[in-house]
Amino acid sequence: MAAAKYRRVLLKISGEALADRTGRGIDFAVVNDLVSDIRSAHKLGVEVAIVLGGGNFWRFRDHENSGLPRVASDQVGMIATLLNIMALSNTLNSNGVPAHMYSAFLVDSIIPKYQVFDARRSLETKKVVLLGGGTGNPYFTTDTAAALRALELDVDILLKATKVDGVYDSDPMKNKNAKKFSSITFDEAIEKNLKVMDQTAFSLLSQGCVPVMVFDGLKKGNILKAVKGEAIGTIVRN
Ligand code: UDP
Repeated sequence: MAAAKYRRVLLKISGEALADRTGRGIDFAVVNDLVSDIRSAHKLGVEVAIVLGGGNFWRFRDHENSGLPRVASDQVGMIATLLNIMALSNTLNSNGVPAHMYSAFLVDSIIPKYQVFDARRSLETKKVVLLGGGTGNPYFTTDTAAALRALELDVDILLKATKVDGVYDSDPMKNKNAKKFSSITFDEAIEKNLKVMDQTAFSLLSQGCVPVMVFDGLKKGNILKAVKGEAIGTIVRN
């Protein structure tokens, strides 16, 4: 088996990726596929931190007309991410992949509160680390949480698993002539307003010089290819 290219990675998976066919909830067939990919990456010796979104349960932008105030709506979204990390963390552990989860805010009878040095220690001792609760603050996204944790945990790359296999110059779902970039700079992505990650996330990653690989995270085997540095997806860097 080829060696891993990266020592430590942060994998960002949107909540949507875990959803069932209705686009809601958690499909454990998807979770089991992810576990088998993460296990393979872990076996290669790669230190893996994971930030999960919550969009399969709640996203502020999907419920703008709910009547909930913005802060409360964002708090629901942050709590939703905890449902996802509990599902993935427990499935990893029960499949023999040691995993530790942390929450950005106190729910400490269930999940320990995130502390950067605890999370680093978990990574150093070869636990897969699952980070829930986003940044712990409203008005942010889990992409920004992923960027922040990528910097704090000193990862080599942020692997952004999406439904699309990279960054295109226009929406490939709408335009069949859309062109895929093999690499692009943060400045270009911000300038062209490419909707891959939000600009706060890009700006943090650019400051911290952490590159991003955007790839199709639902295709089985792709997480392993990503940690080996295979040319799948698009690299965004300074
Ligand atoms: N959220 C938040 N602060 C954060 C991260 C997330 O308020 O630091 C809320 C926000 O309402 C967001 C929801 O949680 O819409 C779910 O996160 P996100 O939309 O990033 O999930 P994904 O689309 O990746 O599943």
